[in-house]
Amino acid sequence: MIRKLLRRVFGRSRSAPLEPLRIPVERHGITADQISPCARRTVSTLQQAGYRAFIVGGAVRDLLLKRVPKDFDVATDATPEQVRRLFRRSRIIGRRFRLVHVLCGTETVEVSTFRGGPADEATAEELPTDEHGRLLQDNIFGSQVEDATRRDFTANALFYDPVSQEIWDYHEGYADLRKGVLRIIGDPEKRYREDPVRMLRAVRLAAKLDLKLDPKTEAPIPRLAPLIQNVPAARVFDEMLKLLLSGHSRQCVLQLRARGLHHGLLPLLDVILEQPLGERFVMLALENTDRRIAADKPVNPAFLLAALLWHEVLATWNALQQQGEKPVPALLKAMDEVLAVQEERLAIPRRYEAMMKEIWALQPRFLQRSGQRPFRLLEHPRFRAGFDFLQLRCESGELPKELGEWWDAFQRADPQERQAMLKPGEGPRRRRRRRRKSAQTAEGASVQHGTPVKAGASL
Ligand code: ATP
Ligand code: MG
Repeated sequence: MIRKLLRRVFGRSRSAPLEPLRIPVERHGITADQISPCARRTVSTLQQAGYRAFIVGGAVRDLLLKRVPKDFDVATDATPEQVRRLFRRSRIIGRRFRLVHVLCGTETVEVSTFRGGPADEATAEELPTDEHGRLLQDNIFGSQVEDATRRDFTANALFYDPVSQEIWDYHEGYADLRKGVLRIIGDPEKRYREDPVRMLRAVRLAAKLDLKLDPKTEAPIPRLAPLIQNVPAARVFDEMLKLLLSGHSRQCVLQLRARGLHHGLLPLLDVILEQPLGERFVMLALENTDRRIAADKPVNPAFLLAALLWHEVLATWNALQQQGEKPVPALLKAMDEVLAVQEERLAIPRRYEAMMKEIWALQPRFLQRSGQRPFRLLEHPRFRAGFDFLQLRCESGELPKELGEWWDAFQRADPQERQAMLKPGEGPRRRRRRRRKSAQTAEGASVQHGTPVKAGASL
């Protein structure tokens, strides 16, 4: 109480200066025309109504790094209700911390009111935390300097005013960016304890933006990595998806692993990465995703998640078959078991699970290359995803390359060529007979049509 009173009288003992460094356009080079018209209009409307308003966060950072920002966020001292009143096409969203979405055409700009937080020592003691220091609530409004200080990295705490074209910098973020450094604001350990997701953000942003982690920012991460386990699963999942779809997923996963952060992300990912075939498969899937993002091609998160968990499914599938289960029911059971384990920690949304299962369940069908079956598989709505997945399996050495090449050629071939490509000896009658026979042996589906399958692949 007394400490608080003294602070109120003598000012706060914070690391951020109350006055920002104001950097003119001649120095930083960002001009208003690099800001989306919607974000510019939002800022100028707020300013004309007498409020403070700036472009903040990732967009300013990305422009300084000569990258195209994903979106533009605005921060203001107007309350959500005051913002809402100024824009006809706007709505207040969020329950815990309310934001306003301002819409212009198809673009949406997110407007948030300056937030205070634990970095503001006057309120720090009032904010609830768990026993490890994780903030359970940080939804209070604050001043602009408080808003800067509660942000994660100095490079993310820059404010750009498109009207004056000035950057306001409270934490030397501009100098850090020029040096290519990502530095956390405040005491690193305290900030990671408040929100352990910041450790994942550090790794993701450094990899994506080609920045170096400042040594003090980097040092406590391996020691504090287990704190990720206390973060709600849905939030970890969102952050993991951002990381996997950052266009630098391979680098991110390698970095996470080097810092002991991968345990909390995909349970068992560490086990998978330690098996040579599993590691090769996961790395190929990540490289593939990064290449697609670089080429501006769409990436389906379900495909990537299916790939990350494949070797878990494979191991469980093998084990079940060794216990005498038939291949197809064993696969279905393995899929459910693996997803159930992941669900506890990762909360993979149901919409992804359905597609992951479809991709996995299609895999045994690629081994059947006679009669009508390959034609039916070609028509399956998930054929493309299933085939891409098969290619990864072939490339990683799990299946013979020849199988992937056959399917590649089969899709492109004309109807006559396709007939000629079918594997011989499979009329409808013989197929029925064989099916009956294979039903008696556990490896039924695994040795069809002379496709040799590597040990451990268990198909
Ligand atoms: P990206 O380019 O991936 O969107 P970003 O930095 O913009 O990166 P967002 O999640 O969009 O990331 O967050 C916007 C801003 O909010 C950040 O720039 C940062 O200032 C602040 N922020 C986000 N997450 C945190 C966090 N966990 N702790 C503190 N500040 C955060
Ligand atoms: Mg952003």
